Amino acid sequence: DLTDAETLARIDAARDIAIPDAAPITVSPPSAKPMPVRNPTDGDTVAQVDEADSATVAQAISDARPWDASAAERAAILRRAADLYEENFGVIFATLAREAGKIMTDAVGELREAVDFLRYYAAQAEAQNGSARGVFTAISPWNFPLAIFTGQISAALAAGNAVLAKPAEQTPLIAAIGVRLLHEAGVPVSALQFLPGDGATVGAALTSDERINGVVFTGSTDTARVIARAMASHMAPGTPLIAETGGLNAMIVDSTALPEQAVRDIVASSFQSAGQRCSALRCLYVQEDIAPGLIKMIQGAMDELSVGDPWKLSTDVGPLIDSEAHEGIASYLETNNNRILHQVPAPDCGHFLSPTLLKVNGIDDLEREIFGPVLHVATFRNRDLEKVIGDINARGFGLTFGLHTRIDSRVQEVTDAIHCGNLYVNRNQIGAVVGSQPFGGEGLSGTGPKAGGPLYVSRFFKPVDGAAT
Ligand code: NAD
Repeated sequence: DLTDAETLARIDAARDIAIPDAAPITVSPPSAKPMPVRNPTDGDTVAQVDEADSATVAQAISDARPWDASAAERAAILRRAADLYEENFGVIFATLAREAGKIMTDAVGELREAVDFLRYYAAQAEAQNGSARGVFTAISPWNFPLAIFTGQISAALAAGNAVLAKPAEQTPLIAAIGVRLLHEAGVPVSALQFLPGDGATVGAALTSDERINGVVFTGSTDTARVIARAMASHMAPGTPLIAETGGLNAMIVDSTALPEQAVRDIVASSFQSAGQRCSALRCLYVQEDIAPGLIKMIQGAMDELSVGDPWKLSTDVGPLIDSEAHEGIASYLETNNNRILHQVPAPDCGHFLSPTLLKVNGIDDLEREIFGPVLHVATFRNRDLEKVIGDINARGFGLTFGLHTRIDSRVQEVTDAIHCGNLYVNRNQIGAVVGSQPFGGEGLSGTGPKAGGPLYVSRFFKPVDGAAT
């Protein structure tokens, strides 16, 4: 909440904080190669990361030891880490803004979510019985570089596993801060080693070693497939892969929907975090008779978006994460130039990209998940609703889905028919609440169980005899 005086004072205090370099944190001394970490808003070097190599990974696997502490001790240490995260808000906000280009609302929300994961999984450590599986690999994406990273690690640690944590290439600095705070809280280094580096080297080494007892991964569906193949070739049958992956998320707005509310939710779902959320709305279906008016309203609301400096409290949309993301989406927009209905200006520097509205015939026109501020809009006739749902399901993803309607029976009808992990009715379709609203997909969007729910932690325990792995 950026109207809260304490939060504003915290953001102000964070502006000039220096960001520490990152390096592997391992039991044995690592070998590593230095790389600059760049700010997505201006390309400046934020700090340096020493990337691990495959020999460092192999040694770290040998050195890993499951966490030798009672459930009550583990829970107390995870709670202490939550307190330390909160106390270190300054360096956390600064690193999220400079390394990941996070606008302040997102930085505040992300710290909150990371802390919620630590406290929730601490409670689960006390609530669940069982023994650790052994050594877990945790591989995370850059888009929630603190919250998802912390969630994976703390769930695995809650069950007493040793964790080998690899952050995304783009965001090692914020991850290093999280690991240092977990160590400061009392997690031994042998139970939590930090291995920054690229997917092809460090990621591959961490997912193709027979000594690994489980992998928790969040990222793209394509990478999950590569990991699943590597695990199948090298690890014992039944070694779990807990994967949260991409989506092709749709929303249906029928002609009974409240237009102002629908437009507010559409714009937030598509453009918040510059569309760099797995839950973000990609394909909007508007009922034909209200479409011209609603699309005009969406364009008006897009014109209100302010794209730019993450530190400015009035900014709604920050930059894309890196030049690869920027070039990929810019070239997609060039190819689909004739479909562009509306675009709003963005700064001509760093990796900023104009929020864009594209006209499509339906979800089949989307060749892939466009992980940025691009909303596709299609229209549908009432009698085609079933076909629209069939088309969405047929793409095979199943992460989030949104519905705006005031017809009660339609809510039930659509809920029964759509395949998705998280369904949002008459609200925006981004966000979840750790503990009360677990998050995760089905089909090509993930293996489950949902993060932030009790079943998630149970996957990190050794199965009892006869139970499924
Ligand atoms: P990505 O798949 O490119 O990378 C994710 C992680 O995998 C990185 O740490 C990367 O280094 C690592 N990796 C890459 N190749 C590897 C390999 N061969 N072996 C092992 N590890 C490897 O994804 P990204 O670009 O970082 O993140 C964006 C994607 O993540 C989007 O598809 C988004 O939808 C998805 N995502 C899903 C969720 C969810 O909860 N379902 C949440 C956030 C992001």
